[in-house]
This record gives sequence, C-alpha cells and structure tokens, in this order.
Amino acid sequence: MTKALISSYKQLLEKTKNITTLHSAAAILHWDMETMMPPKGIKMRSLQLAMLSRIGHKMSTAPEIGRLLQETINHPDYSSLDLVHKRNLYLIKKSYDEQTKLPEELVVETSKQQAITINMWKKAKATKDFAKFKPELEKLFELKKQAAEILMQVKETATPYDALVDIFEPKMSSEAISKVFKKLREGLVLLLKKCETAQKQPDTSILERPVPVEPQQKIGKLLAEFIGYDVTSGESGGRIDETEHPFTTGYYDDVRITTHYYPHRFASSIFSILHEGGHAIYEQNLKPEWMFQPVGDACSMGFHESQSRFVENIIGRSHEFWTYFLPALKKLTGNVLSDVTVDDFVHAINHVQSSKIRVEADEVTYGLHVIIRFNLEQDLFADKISIDELPQVWNKNYNKYLGVTIKDDSEGVMQDTHWASGLYGYFPSYALGNIYSGQLLACMDTQLQGWRDQIARGEFGTVKQWLNGNVHRHGNLYSPPELIKTITGKELSVKPFIDYLNNKYSQLYQF
Ligand code: ZN
Repeated sequence: MTKALISSYKQLLEKTKNITTLHSAAAILHWDMETMMPPKGIKMRSLQLAMLSRIGHKMSTAPEIGRLLQETINHPDYSSLDLVHKRNLYLIKKSYDEQTKLPEELVVETSKQQAITINMWKKAKATKDFAKFKPELEKLFELKKQAAEILMQVKETATPYDALVDIFEPKMSSEAISKVFKKLREGLVLLLKKCETAQKQPDTSILERPVPVEPQQKIGKLLAEFIGYDVTSGESGGRIDETEHPFTTGYYDDVRITTHYYPHRFASSIFSILHEGGHAIYEQNLKPEWMFQPVGDACSMGFHESQSRFVENIIGRSHEFWTYFLPALKKLTGNVLSDVTVDDFVHAINHVQSSKIRVEADEVTYGLHVIIRFNLEQDLFADKISIDELPQVWNKNYNKYLGVTIKDDSEGVMQDTHWASGLYGYFPSYALGNIYSGQLLACMDTQLQGWRDQIARGEFGTVKQWLNGNVHRHGNLYSPPELIKTITGKELSVKPFIDYLNNKYSQLYQF
C-alpha cells in the first residue's frame, strides 16, 4: 500500500470510530431510559436522543467521507488491499451512500415520531385501544415508507420493503425469504399437529410454582456464569437489570442484558437470560483488533438471533443441560421443585402449543408467529393492506395459521414494540436465526463429538469456543449468505432446523 492510500484509509477508520462512539452513547441513553430513568425524564431524553441522531447523521454524511472514499476506492493500488480493508471500505461506502440520500429532516422527524409512537403504543396497549395508537402509527409508517423508497434506489433492491430487510439481513431478499419460509411453515405445521395430538403431554403446572425474585436473581447469575458471560467479577463487562421486555445492548467490553422476574413464572427469566446472554457473548467475542471498524460488528440480526436461540433453546432447553442444572435449581428454589424429575422438567419447558403471544411461543410455533408478521409487512409496503385494516387481518391470520382467537388488540396486533419503533423488516431475522442455528448445530455435531456429554457435566467451554471460532470471530467480514456458506459449506437451508425439531420432539412426545 502506498502512503497516500494508507493515510486516506486510516482517516476513514478514524471517522468511523467517532460515529461508533457517538452511537454507543445513544445506546446507553436508551438503556438508561428502559432501566433507570424516572418517568418525567422522557421529555429531556427525547431531546437528547434527537440531538444525537442529528449529530450522528451529520457525521455520517460529511463530504469529507465521500472525498476519502473516492481517494481510496479509485486509487491505482486499491487492488493490493486485503479482504478486511476492502470489506471495511465497502461497508463505509454502503452506509455513506444510504445516509447521504436520506434527508436530514426525514431522519430527525423519524427519530422524534418514533419516541411519540412508542409512548402512545404503551398507553394504547395498556387500555387495549388500537384507535388511539393508529394515527401515530400511520405517521411513522409514512416516514418509514419514504425512507424505504429512497433506500430502494440506493441499494437497488426489488421493492421498498426489501430495502428495509437489507438493513437487518444484508443481501437477503423477501423473495428468497418467502421461499425458505414456505418450507419452514410446512415443517412446523406438520410437527405442531403431531405434538398437539400426542398421547404423552407435559405437566406444565410445575412451572407455575412460586419462586421469589431473589432466588431467581441468583439463578440468573449462575446461568450467566455457565455461559461465560461475566456479570459479577471486578473485571466484568456485563450486567443484568430488569425491564418489562428483555433486551441486550452494547459492544465488546460493555454489553448489558435485561430480564423480567415473574414470581409465578420462574422459567421466564431463566430463558430470557440465556437468550440475551447468547446475544451478549456474541458481542463480547468479536475480534478485539477490529473494534470500532465496520468489520468488527456482528454479521446481522439473523445471525444474532441464531446465537441467542442456540444458547436459549438448543443448549438451554436440552435434556443434557438440565441433567446438570436441575439439582442447582432445586437447591436455590428451596423445596418447591424437590419432586420434579429431569424428564418431567424438560418436557414442561418444551411444551408445544398454539398461542397468541410471540415472545412466549415455543420453538415449534415461534416461526409461525414470525411468518404472519413477515407477510403483513410485505402487504403493507405493497399497499395491499392499510394500517387501518391491520387488526382485522392480524386476527384472521392468527386464526388461520395458529387456530387461536384474538380477543383484543393488546394480545393481537399491539403485542410487539417493533412497528411502534419503526422497525419494519426486522421480524424475518428471528426465524432466519432459527434456521441458521439448525445449520450451525448440524455442523457442530460433525465437528465436535461429545459436546452433549460435556454440557451434561456442566461444561460449556468447548461449545462456546466453537461458536467463537466459527461465528463470532468473523464479525462482519461476510454477508449472511456468505457467512453461512463459509461456516457450513452449504447454502441457506431449512432442513437441519426441521430435522433437529423432529428429532427432539419425537423423543419428548414419543411419536
Ligand atoms: Zn433476541
């Protein structure tokens, strides 16, 4: 590399570092808003966040970045750059091209409207009143539609909706997703029927036995320790706080998760900690030398979900894990679970049943919840349905796909925060995460014999190392379709996930 090329490249990375630092400050303000902020703080907080988003947009669209990109990409020695340099330049250029096409007013207006819509969503959800929520949702949807139409031109996607999907799952089109979701749906519906009609059904009442918050907090810390997510030592880079809806935020050395402790549903915090912990260990095990570089981010939301669901479901809901962990759980919960066997417990936490709420859904029905949302989003952006018709279409689809009757919009169309937050195109990532996790499992099974015995002995280290080496350390070096191919040697495929489910549930339900 010549001196001039190195200098321009370094200047670009310096600018990226500043932008990343600013975004991390906004993320901490968001975290504080959900965990610590007193209710009255909302006014000041929305001003602070709007200001940071304005500054961030200015920094990301500075003409200086455009000039430096030209200097590096058009440099005669560009071809001498290695894969990491080229990927960084590609990602910086992609972000710059997209951000510069979005008018600053649209960005700021969207940020403001998001805060208003979320606030209204909370109120409307509590009073089961979609009519109250609808006008704000319509405003935000129109803003997102404008952005999607602009981004479609820059990203050269087939539809505006595809441009939004690309934000969370780059290089993945809604056409490709529709294809895999069709197969996913067929597999899930078949399996759901088998589970629901099986003779052997679990006793889920054991999961309603009372466990106070304090022992649940201790259990949570033990789980974090098991997966190697340090929240207790003097050198820790994580912490667990309480929020209504669990989430993960942060990057490398400061990654925080949240959970919710329900005294009559102790399993809820167990699985949300394992889930968010899966996200956390992904962020904490990205390549340290790539910190602050675009290549040092996680690959995609779908890959993030593959990691959280791997830890939550493939490990956390396995017979092996509970062989190890049930004695500790019994000890920490007093006499509450003393009569429960591993078999009974594992069946109860893997109960398959059609339900109304996505976040409480089991592994089998979860994908169906996602497919409903994906289809609705496509129809919304193609003007096939309007926001006004959403509740009605939602209820109809829940009946058709899951056989449940939605009684009010709080348990229906208003259950998730995504649309209120303007996160259209995000939902497919959840089901893609499941599909990736199935492919990763199939690959790990061939490469890491004996891993199940290790889990039963309480050792997660080898599995974690495998995930570190095969997923986490690649950061954002590849797009999701490239990454799954690099790791497994295969294209995106639903089969390993469906095979995993069939194998697991035929044993549990004995069909
Ligand atoms: Zn997640």
